[in-house]
Amino acid sequence: MLVWKSLTKVGLSQSEQLAELIREADALVVGVGAGMSASDGFTYIGARFENMFSDFINKYKFLDMLQASLFDFEDWQEYWAFQSRFVFLNYISQPVGKGYLALKSILNQKPYHIITTNADNAFDIADYNMEKIFHIQGKYCLWQCSEYCHNQTYRDDRTILKMLLNQKNMKIPCELVPLCPKCKAPFEINKRNEERGMVEDSSFYVKKEKYEKFLSKYENGKIMYIDIGVGNTTPQFIKHPFWKRVEKNPDALYVVLNYKHYRIPTSIRSRSVEFTDNISELIIKTNNLL
Ligand SMILES: [Zn+2]
Repeated sequence: MLVWKSLTKVGLSQSEQLAELIREADALVVGVGAGMSASDGFTYIGARFENMFSDFINKYKFLDMLQASLFDFEDWQEYWAFQSRFVFLNYISQPVGKGYLALKSILNQKPYHIITTNADNAFDIADYNMEKIFHIQGKYCLWQCSEYCHNQTYRDDRTILKMLLNQKNMKIPCELVPLCPKCKAPFEINKRNEERGMVEDSSFYVKKEKYEKFLSKYENGKIMYIDIGVGNTTPQFIKHPFWKRVEKNPDALYVVLNYKHYRIPTSIRSRSVEFTDNISELIIKTNNLL
């Protein structure tokens, strides 16, 4: 087993230790979850949510934007009134995140690949190399047939803006409800559903393959699996596969950036490091040290 020298040093701040670990790593496998976007200000609660959705909150007593976005709305006109605002806020008009910019600059120093359960625009708008990112849960800007009649996704930001501007009483006009060209069922946001899964088109599989190739290429050696703000909603996509790969490679390290503590399996606990500082601030500080 190779030794991660930075782990033996004492008295380092979190950013100093993270910077040293990154210097030592041969490659970085990065898993990004909701906590990363939230720490960069793209939260699903508070003013950002309340300002955009006060009428929906009033009607349905929503507590946060994630819960609201998964709600079974009374019809498609209401669904798209909500979703057009959601997509505008979390995709079309999303500003560049400072933490995302710093992370990009850190990653450019090492071979890396990213897998994310986030569906917002944070990577695109921060000008990442999108060939190195696998969005396993879809993207908010994409649509799929609500009947899943064929495996293709669609994008039409102009129609989203029309929906945004032309809605009244939490409904868009009937004629703006977008329809599947094949079966005429309404479109919905390309998003994974617990029972039905998600429409995964050819570009999804291309991205998946690139990610898997990277994992095979860096199966051995000092590989750092960085779990950034991944929660426990869908641990099967990032957390659990990361644990398994660290378990298999005795030289690998599992690094978690999260102020919340999640149980780490005993088999890899000695090769795990948890950083609890605010994610965005920690990444910015770490980047300044590299
Ligand atoms: Zn269809």
